[in-house]
Amino acid sequence: MTSSTNSYDFVVVGAGTAGCVIAARLSEDAGVRVLLLEAGAAEPPAAVAAPLAWPSLQGTSADWAGVSVPQAATGGRIPWPRGRGLGGSSSINGMAFLRGHRSSYDAWVRAGAEGWGFDDLLPYFLRSEHVEGRDPTVRGDAGPVHVAPAHSLHPVTEAFLAAASEVGYPAASDVSGGLDEGFGSNDLNIVDGRRQSAADAYLVPALDRPNLDVVTDALVHRTRLHAGRCTGVEYSVGSEVFVAEARGEVVLTGGTVGSPLVLMRSGIGPRSHLRDVGVDVVVDLPGVGANVQDHPRSTVIYQAAGPMPDRTNSHADALGLIRSDPELDALDLQLQLVDIPYFAPALPPPMSADASGYSIALAAMTPRSRGSVRLAGADPGEPPVLDPNYYSDPHDLEVMTAGLRVARRIGTADALEPWRGREVFPGGEVRDDASMREYLRRSLRTYSHQVGTCRMGTDALAVVDTGLRVRGVEGLRVADASVMPTIVSANTNATVYAIAERAVDLIRG
Ligand SMILES: Cc1cc2nc3c(=O)[nH]c(=O)nc-3n(C[C@H](O)[C@H](O)[C@H](O)COP(=O)(O)OP(=O)(O)OC[C@H]3O[C@@H](n4cnc5c(N)ncnc54)[C@H](O)[C@@H]3O)c2cc1C
Repeated sequence: MTSSTNSYDFVVVGAGTAGCVIAARLSEDAGVRVLLLEAGAAEPPAAVAAPLAWPSLQGTSADWAGVSVPQAATGGRIPWPRGRGLGGSSSINGMAFLRGHRSSYDAWVRAGAEGWGFDDLLPYFLRSEHVEGRDPTVRGDAGPVHVAPAHSLHPVTEAFLAAASEVGYPAASDVSGGLDEGFGSNDLNIVDGRRQSAADAYLVPALDRPNLDVVTDALVHRTRLHAGRCTGVEYSVGSEVFVAEARGEVVLTGGTVGSPLVLMRSGIGPRSHLRDVGVDVVVDLPGVGANVQDHPRSTVIYQAAGPMPDRTNSHADALGLIRSDPELDALDLQLQLVDIPYFAPALPPPMSADASGYSIALAAMTPRSRGSVRLAGADPGEPPVLDPNYYSDPHDLEVMTAGLRVARRIGTADALEPWRGREVFPGGEVRDDASMREYLRRSLRTYSHQVGTCRMGTDALAVVDTGLRVRGVEGLRVADASVMPTIVSANTNATVYAIAERAVDLIRG
């Protein structure tokens, strides 16, 4: 039963990274009424603000706590955290702030996203960020998102950077800017020792505006469609169902999982799948929910030779972006020092809880495997079917194997010798290619950088056009991580900020 209706110019669905930007920017115009709907709570758990607490946020009320279907390549299910509540995933993420390398956005243009190259996006990167001490021609100094490299690095992180240099990798002067290659300390979303989420940066300063309504604990079921036009959304708070009418547009910012689910529940998606789950087909858009891409991640874990000094910053303040093969025209490997033993969910710690250690994490940054997000049924409360389909393209495991070799070369360099105890994982017996691959399968985890389920483009499988408009429907856009045609070669949050800033210009026309 629908219990009440309200009318707005814009209805924004999902208060994550993109939704906070778009609702805050659109409501700068006092003449428009904006509604932001968020399924999660208004108040996050206290630990959200504490940078070192991020690994403990998974499974809390701030996380949808999704789990993949069993993966053929690994034999198990992979946990898929994603943020729920104001700030969305920016409230539970690792706070690493990096643009993809320029080559990532060139790949978007090649995939049909004309006008979305690095230089096209640069004004939006600049508009979103505030960073000091970087090159002002490529980095912003007046945006709401305050970022900076760690004020001081953990000594094991310093040793990691020295080790990378020792084995021949260049130092990067700004590994976060998208133009550099090599190892360096990356920017972090930390201000005065606290996490700065998208809600902190954009939404909180806008909350007093009389033309902006934010409703939390509000699960959007579906969009309302009439004669080819989106007229609003239907959502519930507890057991009550509401309708919000949109005189202008509905903007979906539910993220790579949330946005395709809302589309499919609205009857916009692959015809045969919608029929299978009992949803009436309104627009047969076969690309909705397809094209899932994520960075597969694994770790080499060392027991420390002795006690480790206290951790500071975010546990992971420096990394390297490199090519697994110098002939490649794109960066395809990331190596990151994590100053704790970062065990894969499927491989429990074989050392005592108080033993100290550290990890070198590795990730394939241009994966070719493609997965899907599907409805389990028409009921909005039903958890979705998440299939990342990791390692279905053998290329990804090859790159990860190359990455494991690089991680070990760095891990066994002289510079890390004072810190190094035994290699806990993969362990000394894992030497040949076959056993390394086996380890990489067992230790696989998500880097939580899922993108691509509403991809932008011009071909039959594109979900939105290059103006982020849903193909075949008026008055409906998607503007979040799901529109990326291909995954960028870095952590994804900075790119989502830029997409959202650009979406605001597109919406304003
Ligand atoms: C554990 C973790 C660690 C990460 N670490 C990093 C990192 O260190 N650096 C980095 O750059 N990136 C990181 N990322 C990725 C990055 O945070 C995301 O790419 C980015 O936040 C995605 O933004 P988004 O707006 O697309 O979606 P989200 O921020 O996920 O927002 C989607 C929002 O929509 C809401 N929603 C969904 N469906 C509905 C519905 N039906 N009704 C109402 N509301 C709905 C959700 O609750 C959520 O608040 C990490 C992500 C996770 C989960």
